[in-house]
Amino acid sequence: MINGVHLITYPDSLGRNIAELHGFMKRRLSNCLAGVHLLPFFPSTADRGFAPTTYREVDSAFGSWKDVETLGSDFELTVDFMMNHISVRSAWFLDWLEKGKNSRWADLFIPVDKLFPDGIPKDERALIYTRKPRNPWTSVTFEDGTVRDVWCTFFEEQIDIDVFSDVGRCWLESELGELCARRGIGTIRLDAIGYATKRRGTRFFFEEPEIVDLLTRCVDISERHGVTLLPEIHEHFSYQERLAGLGRVMIYDFALPMLLLHACYSGNAVPLRDWLLRRPGNCVTTLDTHDGIGIVDVADLLSSEQIDFTINMLYEKGSSVNRRYSTADFGNLDIYQVNCTYYSALGENDDAYMVARALQFFVPGIPQVYYVGLLAGPNDIELVQKTRQGRDINRHGYSLEEAETQLERPVVKRLLRLMEFRNSFEVFGVGGTAVGAKVDLRAGSLKPGRAEHGFREMDVSLNEGGEVLTIVRSWGDSKASLQVNFSEFSAKIESEGAAGRKDFWV
Ligand code: BGC
Repeated sequence: MINGVHLITYPDSLGRNIAELHGFMKRRLSNCLAGVHLLPFFPSTADRGFAPTTYREVDSAFGSWKDVETLGSDFELTVDFMMNHISVRSAWFLDWLEKGKNSRWADLFIPVDKLFPDGIPKDERALIYTRKPRNPWTSVTFEDGTVRDVWCTFFEEQIDIDVFSDVGRCWLESELGELCARRGIGTIRLDAIGYATKRRGTRFFFEEPEIVDLLTRCVDISERHGVTLLPEIHEHFSYQERLAGLGRVMIYDFALPMLLLHACYSGNAVPLRDWLLRRPGNCVTTLDTHDGIGIVDVADLLSSEQIDFTINMLYEKGSSVNRRYSTADFGNLDIYQVNCTYYSALGENDDAYMVARALQFFVPGIPQVYYVGLLAGPNDIELVQKTRQGRDINRHGYSLEEAETQLERPVVKRLLRLMEFRNSFEVFGVGGTAVGAKVDLRAGSLKPGRAEHGFREMDVSLNEGGEVLTIVRSWGDSKASLQVNFSEFSAKIESEGAAGRKDFWV
């Protein structure tokens, strides 16, 4: 991944399509962004692109492969591959419905009786890790009238794939291989990969040795094309450490968003400081994504009281957030996430928001900024009420005109200035790789840093009161320090580098 700030956006969230998005990024954001995670742009039947019918086409409403590749020639691309599931209306699944066991794709799917020929015992069902408050399967009717339950971790439009069957192995090789071969793609995010491992008597989540076999196969494919993989796992942080231990994929730091909120709400940055001292630096960092704010990711990093406090404050500060928006009533997909924009989570307080972003950018790793966060967007209650989908609270669609207007807001200008600083000042090297250069974030490929755990390229200190946190980054003779006060919401940067001295309040 190029060492700089990356945007996360849908193909039609900043403007109507990829070409408009590209034009906007080039015109207004070229100094602030190194790349873009372009959320799914394939033809899809649900979940905003996460129920693809194919990986060979671009949904014509968004543009064409040419648009994707042109965007990729200016901004390094990250794209999604949903190996856990495929659309219920994909040709593969329809063929199975039509031909039943005579379909060549029959073994691509997971009828419940394939795993549990005698029905699913209660104790085994209880073990299974689910993200929605109902069974992880759905009934489908075949053309001959037979009705069968098939595995379905997420929405009913998304049918799970058996990536361990022979046909599933070939499917993966061919579809992932095809995607990796497209021009301009630097990273592939492996969506929800933890759910792809299903073995009786387990949690059906990130099971070993299956997950290692699966990741190894994926990496073998992607490395042939020079593409790096970024598995998406929301769970206890030790799962990220296990992934890092494999040495061949990148990892996310999904703990940062909640830890930062806790520090902002409580004025106590001790848990945040402790995490900064132990986290590996070869991470992709986010504060916001197209999903909710992850809670499960901070288990054991915050106490259960601190987690409850943070969730309560999140609902109170993001005052327009109704608890129901994160429940099944509002199609919530993940019972461990709270739906709210990061700006609203911080009470739409510009200074608090800048404190959080400054910290994100100073923490070692590659920062991603979600498009709503880029424009410091508040919760879109109107949209949620209309669609009754909780995650839509953080999925406002901006026309180009509206986006241009948002860029004029002082908080957005402050953020863009900070992003430019992150993208140009030399201290933000990652794993020994300079700003603006391509960094190989796979754990096994990084030069060891100064710290014992993973690598860490910063010094962190906290005052006695626990509310003033200082991070110092250095690169050769250049240095930059960020001092953040979580009670007053102030953030000051002092820097000295090749271009001279620069001190500013964020
Ligand atoms: C994605 C979600 C999606 C789900 C199913 C996730 O983890 O981030 O947006 O709904 O996978 O594809």
